[in-house]
Amino acid sequence: VARPLSGKVALVTGASSGIGEATAVALAEAGAAVAIGARRRDRLDALSAKLRDAGAGVLALDLDVTDEAACRDAVARTRQELGGLDVLVNNAGVMLLGTVVGADTEDWRRMVSTNVLGLMYMTHAAIDGMVEQGSGDVVNVSSVAGRTARRGAGVYNASKWAVNAFSESLRQEVTTAGVRVSLVEPGAVATELTDHITQPEAKAAIRETVAGMRPLQAEDIARAVLYVVSQPPHVAVNEVLVRPTDQE
Ligand code: NDP
Repeated sequence: VARPLSGKVALVTGASSGIGEATAVALAEAGAAVAIGARRRDRLDALSAKLRDAGAGVLALDLDVTDEAACRDAVARTRQELGGLDVLVNNAGVMLLGTVVGADTEDWRRMVSTNVLGLMYMTHAAIDGMVEQGSGDVVNVSSVAGRTARRGAGVYNASKWAVNAFSESLRQEVTTAGVRVSLVEPGAVATELTDHITQPEAKAAIRETVAGMRPLQAEDIARAVLYVVSQPPHVAVNEVLVRPTDQE
């Protein structure tokens, strides 16, 4: 088995389910020690046990990315307890789809504070050390929704647009220091993401769309992340857009 990430340390946010969990597994299988952060501690403990049994170095972190101090602490503990930080996967996110008319603006605050500010806090906490060491990967999980706006997804679209803009600007800032910034943009992936939608019509509509196709599995996106971070140092895969073949 190829272990291209042997000796590397990764931190994955939103690792308690879906794409984040699959990514933590893929990075650990590739040889990385992995810090896994999220709010649901029971899920993290189960994943920790699984990764440890497979021989990986693991650190479970109680992490709410909307809390800047918690983001700083997660990065500091990863460096202290796993010996460094080479790969940050900013995956934590919420997709509270719904129309603008009649929206509960609490949905908007949750999306902006998690998908945008949370990703920025984590990046800010990690980036100085990466620039100092002259290497590192920041992989930001955006979405097809960061490239194509649709009716009923306005604030989610806006949050992922923000991720794409921030990522490209940061890329220009740090790439010549040896730090790579990448976007992974999934189409529909079968995960728990739609469970949290509060507008009933929006929830029904997205579920109907996904039921009519063969969606991606979380592991399909984990492979894309692994591809990005296992390139040789002179190769920066800046953007990967992965849709289900059945998605228009
Ligand atoms: P899941 O709902 O399965 O996973 C979301 C993860 O984010 C969970 O681990 C959750 O953990 C974590 N999370 C949510 N809020 C916070 C927070 N405040 N602090 C820390 N962690 C948080 O969905 P996916 O795996 O599908 O989503 C992962 C990413 O992929 C998101 O950024 C999403 O936008 C993106 N994406 C998903 C697509 C899909 O079709 N599924 C398509 C395109 C992009 P916990 O609740 O334990 O904190």
